[in-house]
Amino acid sequence: MIKKRKRIEIEGIVQGVGFRPFIHKLAKSHNIKGFVLNKPEGVIIEVEGEQTIIEHLIKDIREKAPPFARIRKINSKTLPLKGYRDFVIKQSSVKGEKRTLISPDIAICDDCKRELLDTKDRRYQYPFINCTNCGPRFTIIEELPYDRKNTTMKKFLMCEECQSEYVDTYDRRFHAQPNACEKCGPEVKLVNRKGSMVDGDPIKETTRLLKKGKIIAIKGLGGFHLACDATNKEAIILLRERKKRPYKPFALMAKDVDEIKRYVLLSEREEELLKSPGAPIILLQRKKGCSLPGEIAPNNNYIGFMLPYTPLHILLFKSSEGMDVLVMTSGNRRGESIIFKNDEALHSLGDIADYFLLHNRDINILADDSVVRVSLDDNQPLMIRRSRGFVPEPIRSPVHFEKNILGCGAHLRNTFSLGRGDEIFISHHIGDLESPRSIKTYESSIEHFINLFDIHPEIIAVDKHPGYFSTNFGKKRAEGNDNPLIGIQHHHAHIASCLVDNGIDREVIGIAWDGTGYGEDGAIWGGEFLIADLKDYKRKAHLKYFSLPGGEKAIKEPWRMAATYLYEIIGKDFLGLDIEFIHRLDKNKWKMLRKMIDRGINTPKTSSIGRLFDAVSSLIGVRDEITYFGQAAIELEMIMNENKEGLYNFDIKKEEEIYIIDPASVIRSIVDDLLKSVDIPQISSRFHKGLVEMIVKLSIIIREETGLNEVAISGGVFQNQFLLNESLRRLQGEGFKVFKHQSIPPNDGGISVGQVAIAAKKS
Ligand code: ZN
Ligand code: ZN
Ligand code: FE
Repeated sequence: MIKKRKRIEIEGIVQGVGFRPFIHKLAKSHNIKGFVLNKPEGVIIEVEGEQTIIEHLIKDIREKAPPFARIRKINSKTLPLKGYRDFVIKQSSVKGEKRTLISPDIAICDDCKRELLDTKDRRYQYPFINCTNCGPRFTIIEELPYDRKNTTMKKFLMCEECQSEYVDTYDRRFHAQPNACEKCGPEVKLVNRKGSMVDGDPIKETTRLLKKGKIIAIKGLGGFHLACDATNKEAIILLRERKKRPYKPFALMAKDVDEIKRYVLLSEREEELLKSPGAPIILLQRKKGCSLPGEIAPNNNYIGFMLPYTPLHILLFKSSEGMDVLVMTSGNRRGESIIFKNDEALHSLGDIADYFLLHNRDINILADDSVVRVSLDDNQPLMIRRSRGFVPEPIRSPVHFEKNILGCGAHLRNTFSLGRGDEIFISHHIGDLESPRSIKTYESSIEHFINLFDIHPEIIAVDKHPGYFSTNFGKKRAEGNDNPLIGIQHHHAHIASCLVDNGIDREVIGIAWDGTGYGEDGAIWGGEFLIADLKDYKRKAHLKYFSLPGGEKAIKEPWRMAATYLYEIIGKDFLGLDIEFIHRLDKNKWKMLRKMIDRGINTPKTSSIGRLFDAVSSLIGVRDEITYFGQAAIELEMIMNENKEGLYNFDIKKEEEIYIIDPASVIRSIVDDLLKSVDIPQISSRFHKGLVEMIVKLSIIIREETGLNEVAISGGVFQNQFLLNESLRRLQGEGFKVFKHQSIPPNDGGISVGQVAIAAKKS
């Protein structure tokens, strides 16, 4: 038999997922000699054996790879024989281009769960148990290749027993980098606000304090949670007061699926996602008569639930006096990014939490919980926030990146993206770039990604908004590095992100509806119909411009929009209308507002559908002022009764090349309905159905004009489930092919993806 020596190079997620032991076992079973080695660009295998056996081996690598491995590419070449005598795992090499992918953090696996609760196991109740198939990854990695010395675990020297597992090819902890036990690994401690230790078992004490209604900051995988007993109304109210967060829904963590089913409806698909390795928060429909306090998610029909995804979480629920369901909201101050260091937590959350459950396994980079909703219509998951458990796995790009591109993202719900080759690395959720803390997180996260993946940007893409922090950051970086800077219109980026999400690169009708996006004419856009591909776009239709008196202020105070719409549609006599809104309206404030509108002081023009939602929400008495992003629109959606009949008609007129959507008759009809005492759930329904009707009408008009039969739907407004599902259903009924988001958020969290794709095409 003729022997061959082959060098096999594998790229993908092949580190930290048990890949080398898998190769080792495979080689042994095929009686092949050689070695396997982690390199920054992936895994390298050299083998000597018969040609057919080597071919068989490569086939097995593809077909039998470990569950969390993602093979992107296998290259092999023949080399002269060397005469290997054994098959070994070699020391990692640090030289080379960093092409390998890093695994996201993985929820605790069933084997580790079993050991954690097994009184005879040496890791019984050890809160940091993990193995080759589970545990922290992205959040503890400082550098590639993924080896213990390049993680925050480097400060823990493994004990003899852990070490022997770590080096034993056949152990399920072989080269599990965060491997540890009670003797040698990280530990938890419970401290009070002053940082003094609390006596007793930290986890038992934590559950005891939670049961007493205390608020505890708990350090997790990618940052801190603020936790309290979700069945304790007073504790929840206290947390809301201290966090200065009166309405925004809190996420919950429940001990198991049965517990979750007590409160919300749960489909098979949703259950599967809850239990998946990414372990995201799933937004689930509240059951009628749900016994949890309404304060968890006021005026909202959904509750976000997740399952315990670290051993520490499991212990909080499984101890003899364990919890059943906890509020587990991000440990941050309002509008800031999540806190992930012990000292920062004590410093910044000291007036919110009563106690702190800390540990000394450092988090190198933050990662908030991801948020997913499954469509009631077609069972498809929609990523609303893509972060822990998913990042930094890249998304396949339909455009090839000749050069590395950094997309700096939007202003709110910021993420950034790096494009290289055929892949887009979307960052974790950074948050709103409005506080020094978030800005610091943004800047350091970009540097971390660039170094980690060795993707040095050669082109920088930014939003066209001149005032965004991200735009100015990109500008400065481009100037400093002599990189070309490409400005990208916000709604074009939304549509591009939807095209990337669907893996397509061709012209479509793009519907981009959101709250705010800087337009080419300096107005604030947000009710846009485009024809767009990944390179260019043309504006085909938009909501008629209305005033936005006070800019930012008008976003926080929807009553301003309601008054503005009435004024600009009905005229100054609107004040004589006998409706609740007018009785409620502060006439002095209105006088000031009117002056601003009349004189155009700090009053930009906007075509935002988000603002139209706000106006309607306030006009019918749902919400005059908001405390979190999108609140007025969300509450308007939540109160609708879609079984009620009727809809409001938008007028569509062509002005030059563009169709203008006039909501005047909609506002007039709402006033009529209010005067006739039509109930609010019905008005909301008529408004929603009117929007869907308008989408269908305009799509048909644009199809007739352009011949395009494909529609891409994007923008934060389409997190509105009724609007998305109905539009989809109706458009498909009219013969359109419709693309919606799945794994890239439709909100501004997806903007950076669109930016890199468009920049690649434009350059
Ligand atoms: Zn495990
Ligand atoms: Zn140990
Ligand atoms: Fe947007």
